[in-house]
Amino acid sequence: MRPLVFATRNRGKLVELHELLAGTQIEVLGVADAAKVLGRDLPDVVEDADTFVGNAAKKAREVALRTGWPALADDSGLEVDVLDGAPGVYSARWAGSHGDDDANNAKLLRALGDVPAELRTARFRCALVLADPAGPLGDELVTSDGVVEGVILEAPRGSGGFGYDPLFFCPEIGQTFAEAGVGPKGHVSHRARAMAALAPRLRSYLSR
Ligand code: IMP
Repeated sequence: MRPLVFATRNRGKLVELHELLAGTQIEVLGVADAAKVLGRDLPDVVEDADTFVGNAAKKAREVALRTGWPALADDSGLEVDVLDGAPGVYSARWAGSHGDDDANNAKLLRALGDVPAELRTARFRCALVLADPAGPLGDELVTSDGVVEGVILEAPRGSGGFGYDPLFFCPEIGQTFAEAGVGPKGHVSHRARAMAALAPRLRSYLSR
């Protein structure tokens, strides 16, 4: 059976996927592992689409074409209603430099100013896409979407997590994602939901 490449360098995401596919024969490789097995570099794919699913599809397709193996990719971010869905696909680099979480959170607080609590609604969204252009899937893509609803607080709470977690209050668990830690967050998160939605289709496609 061909391995499945997850187009990520994030170890945490790889662990999540391993857990979902536990009990199957499917071998999962991160991009770095796939590059080692193939003995060549696999450069990062530029994420320049204007939707999460567009970015995930681009990454999955390019990694599948470069490796010859089925590839899975994700893209995720925060959508704030009163900001018309911003920062959206720009979540990682909204304040300028990629992955500057403190600057992104400061920009979010400034952008919301004194908007009242009932209008500070937001959600994390995650798109997952499987591509296998060299296999039975051909030009088709298998996609899933996961969402978790929340409210942006007026001040950060909690010290765990990453990104916008300290400002994202999740009513389902009664905490911010930064207070919750990986366990409770992992049960309700956008990524977990997108993974759970894709898992049966992924298992059945890869085991045929
Ligand atoms: P990526 O899709 O993992 O690259 O995430 C893109 C950006 O969205 C991150 O850099 C964060 O700013 C934001 N983001 C995505 N998921 C989360 C999350 O679970 N918590 C906090 N921020 C997130």
